[in-house]
Amino acid sequence: MGVSKAVLGEPAIAQAMVQGGMSFIADSRLENIQRMRKSGISAKFVLLRTALSQAELIVQWVDVSLNSELETLKALSHYAEAQNQIHQVIIMVELGDLREGVCPRDLSSFFKEALALSHLEIIGMGCNLACYGGVKPDANNMHELSIQVDRLEKEFRIDLKIISGGNSANYDWYSTTQETDRINNLRLGESILLGRETVYRASIPGLHTRAFQLFAEVIESKRKPSMPSGDICQDAFGDVPSFQDRGVRQRSIVALGRQDVLVSGLSSRQAMEIIGASSDHLILDSGDRALQIGEEVRFDLDYGALLAVMTSPFVRKEFLP
Ligand SMILES: *Cc1c(COP(=O)(O)O)cnc(C)c1O
Repeated sequence: MGVSKAVLGEPAIAQAMVQGGMSFIADSRLENIQRMRKSGISAKFVLLRTALSQAELIVQWVDVSLNSELETLKALSHYAEAQNQIHQVIIMVELGDLREGVCPRDLSSFFKEALALSHLEIIGMGCNLACYGGVKPDANNMHELSIQVDRLEKEFRIDLKIISGGNSANYDWYSTTQETDRINNLRLGESILLGRETVYRASIPGLHTRAFQLFAEVIESKRKPSMPSGDICQDAFGDVPSFQDRGVRQRSIVALGRQDVLVSGLSSRQAMEIIGASSDHLILDSGDRALQIGEEVRFDLDYGALLAVMTSPFVRKEFLP
């Protein structure tokens, strides 16, 4: 499954994923799925995060949803019946990361109730690791997922088709394991978009790590001291900054700020250093070179920075074929 949430369900990127062979597009936001569907992307849409209040819309817009609460499943079944549909679900299992998932000891009773819901079809099971607790997908937790699948299939005489082992953090496990057991699906966002797995942030052979580039315009370029003068109080974000005296430096301001991007997720391949940012101004120490007013400075982005720029209405997006 290609995961589109980091790019706000951008249809051009979802379309590229489909062309690259993805038959499922997954997103955590219903609004992103609506956006992709409305623009005619032809795929099965998977909602990664459900909410009770959205049950009616989920049934209407989404093919498959990931779930871990019976209340929500009951509402999904209710609205599916009202819309004369069968809604497909994947049940999430908690395997140590402590984000979403039904605890293994509760799975039997959970399945018993879920299977009784008339307008749902449970098509699989899944888990999510390395998100909240930073737990690494490995042979143990992946095997545990397979064991739970086997056990529940036997107990309820059902057939689970999609066993979804995780996200981009599963790359290392997947590319080294001899035995995928029952796991036949991963939900991949960052590794497709940024070409890196997410346990060590190692680049994946054959993939681009710089498919996304951010350009920002230089709006001031001057030589200034590196030490502010006057009493130091809180900055715009409530932090009290500290400074190192490096003498007078060549400094530039680019038209970019914390309203647009996660500044810590930016890196530059040019000889310059990001020395600070407020809402709308990013300050660079450009070393020996004085940047020109109007010049564009280019940055590479990590996941957090990509997520933020794709969400900012101030950042213009351009897609190159
Ligand atoms: C975000 C998300 C993914 C994709 O994560 P990446 O690290 O971008 O691959 C997969 N599954 C769930 C449940 C998610 O929320």
